[in-house]
Amino acid sequence: MSAPEPTLASALPAQTWINRFARLGDAFHASPPVQPLPQPVWVARSPQAAQWLGADPDTLFSDHALQVFAGNTQVPGMHAVATVYSGHQFGVWAGQLGDGRALLLGELATPHLHDTPSVEVQLKGAGRTPFSRMGDGRAVLRSSIREFLASEAMHALGIPTTRALCVVGSPQPVYREAAETAAVVTRLAPSFIRFGHFEHFSHHGLHDELRQLTDFVLDHFYPHCRTQANPVAAMLGEVAERTAAMVALWQSVGFCHGVMNTDNMSILGLTIDYGPFQFMDGFDPAHICNHSDSQGRYAFSRQPSVAYWNLMALGQALLPLIGDSDAAIAALDRFKTAYPAHFEAAMARKLGFGTPPPQGPLRECINSLLHLLAAERMDYTVFWRRLTDFARTGQTTELLDHVVDRGGMESWLLSFSELHAQFGQGPDASLMARTNPRFVLRNYMAQQAIERAETGDFSVVNDLLKVLAAPYDEHPAQAEWAHSAPDWAAQISLSCSS
Ligand code: AMP
Ligand code: MG
Repeated sequence: MSAPEPTLASALPAQTWINRFARLGDAFHASPPVQPLPQPVWVARSPQAAQWLGADPDTLFSDHALQVFAGNTQVPGMHAVATVYSGHQFGVWAGQLGDGRALLLGELATPHLHDTPSVEVQLKGAGRTPFSRMGDGRAVLRSSIREFLASEAMHALGIPTTRALCVVGSPQPVYREAAETAAVVTRLAPSFIRFGHFEHFSHHGLHDELRQLTDFVLDHFYPHCRTQANPVAAMLGEVAERTAAMVALWQSVGFCHGVMNTDNMSILGLTIDYGPFQFMDGFDPAHICNHSDSQGRYAFSRQPSVAYWNLMALGQALLPLIGDSDAAIAALDRFKTAYPAHFEAAMARKLGFGTPPPQGPLRECINSLLHLLAAERMDYTVFWRRLTDFARTGQTTELLDHVVDRGGMESWLLSFSELHAQFGQGPDASLMARTNPRFVLRNYMAQQAIERAETGDFSVVNDLLKVLAAPYDEHPAQAEWAHSAPDWAAQISLSCSS
């Protein structure tokens, strides 16, 4: 007798689904019907994400799970809902936005994790919901691959992010600028609650629901704020702090989000909703990665101030509960000190300082370097690895041979070495090798994975996952992914269409 086929229920038993968000009540969500996706196939699976859930990847990714993660069937214990939220898009109030194509399957208890008691499992692209507006509820293979790889890459870089468990593809046509095919990403996060969830209830004057949602987030994610004089203001301050830490890390690795609307801001300070994002190639503070962003509102160097603007929108939404606008402003002000502190700490590590030097000289070192990199349009990721090699070997050839302004680079290297001599024992090359990634998900890499996947060959997606899940390692067989982007990469155009 053969062993029974594994089911998702054997990997994730019914009692582990706790579904606390779903129990908040009908004001917060709706349950759309199952909308079958024909002929689902595995495009990619993240063993690391499966292990994070506490599941064995071999057991988890069964044929039965393929149907569940395609959105075709549900298992006992799940309570699938689409949540309601609104938000500001490009600085303008846009009303109700979502969940237009996301379906929260349920919330798993994760007693094995020290950093979160539970994880939400969400499908993106599972079909229409009552909140879909004009959309078809679907996501295309292209954008699903980008979101999957970026989520796992950011996690491996130590940047707070939602995660991705798998991508399921289907031959079902989906129409964007051209006909494409459908896919579903299974995303994981302690919570997918966004600033826009609070804005939704506040805008409509639904203060009881606003209170209920805020209590939910306070109880589950910010319980220590309960002991403060104004718990909601304390929570706002912590969200400001977490958002500052997240954006500081984005800036340190050259990550451009592309669509920092308030509905794409997580209440837990996680990077969320990967659309036209980009890891910059040549360093350019004014870089705009989203072709739909004609004004450059979300240009790279504007990300910290946009994050603050978004926090103000959240503060405005929470004001009926905070009561006192001075307390709200004080909470928001935490961003102004937290952001530079986190950014400088991240840059100090990249520069090989185990203990950061005094702020003045550190700022001068960072600013003069970024000025030089911008003038040279130097490949950002490659530069930091070359600097790491310089720290290890003392050889300047690789750094000087690739710049026009050799004198400028020489004098910066001199000041860098002097700063280390003054405040330490020289750059810590091993810290730099653990801080400056060799591999980031450049647009052209994602593009190659997508083009192959569109022919039914998912090998590049999976090769990239292996490299990006360990981005500081050498991976000699994949060394070409560590180089600057080829010239054709400049032609890649990214919009909000996904
Ligand atoms: P985004 O700018 O990608 O975050 O999208 C804004 C909102 O539009 C999200 O809240 C989605 O719920 C919704 N949306 C995007 N694409 C679709 C789609 N194809 N069908 C339904 N809703 C969508
Ligand atoms: Mg979004």
